[in-house]
Amino acid sequence: REEMKRKPEVITALDVECRYEASALAGDLLGVVDFFKVGSRLFTAEGPSIVKELQDAGAKIFLDLKFHDIPATVAGSVRAATTLGVRMMTLHASGGLDMMRAAAGEAAETAEKLGIDRPLLVGVTVLTSLSREDISAMTPFDGQVSDLVLRLAERAGVAGLDGIVASVAEARTVKERLGEEFVVVTPGIRPSGADTGDQKRVATPRKAAEAGSDYLVVGRPITTAASPADSARAILRELDDF
Ligand code: C5P
Repeated sequence: REEMKRKPEVITALDVECRYEASALAGDLLGVVDFFKVGSRLFTAEGPSIVKELQDAGAKIFLDLKFHDIPATVAGSVRAATTLGVRMMTLHASGGLDMMRAAAGEAAETAEKLGIDRPLLVGVTVLTSLSREDISAMTPFDGQVSDLVLRLAERAGVAGLDGIVASVAEARTVKERLGEEFVVVTPGIRPSGADTGDQKRVATPRKAAEAGSDYLVVGRPITTAASPADSARAILRELDDF
């Protein structure tokens, strides 16, 4: 497996309230980290103009809006996000095969029309915040949650998505089942010795890289640091010789 080692890319989650905070963080971080996750909090507050503003400053954007709706609606959202020029976006794998296929088709078609790179479409499987009870209330499924994650990952692959969001505990199995090219995006990253906060399955950058994650999503360890850029540099240093 040694020859397959690829250094993962760090994405900073801009989980902040407004454009001023987002721009200040991006201003500090650009040049160290240039991939930023814009989620529903910031996007709902500021809209697509914050994405454009960050892109104009040189940032790549991961739009994490976790689309979950009927195929035509999700396809329309994917078209809008692709037109915005985001590099990565999320949708729920539990939205069904038709929905994911419509999304994948739309991303490819829109990008081709615009002559831009197709954004990566990443599936969300089972939210880590769901309890067993929450899952039982939705489906009679009584197996391991990790099996449900894998089943949904397989469906995402069949539908033509590029990858899924997965904890470091699942990353290796997902790669083994779906292939090394299937993208794994891993949140819950904590530098060695850092506070875990409310995260359930945390891993150091190094451990996530070893498990095969392609993208490490890091929020608070960078965004709440006295110096976000220094904190990001320390994380990159952990990956230096990977
Ligand atoms: O601050 P922290 O590093 O915990 O941020 C992680 C980011 O990844 C947040 O934006 C969070 O919403 C997201 N995320 C997560 N766990 C998941 C899915 C997404 O932490 N299972």
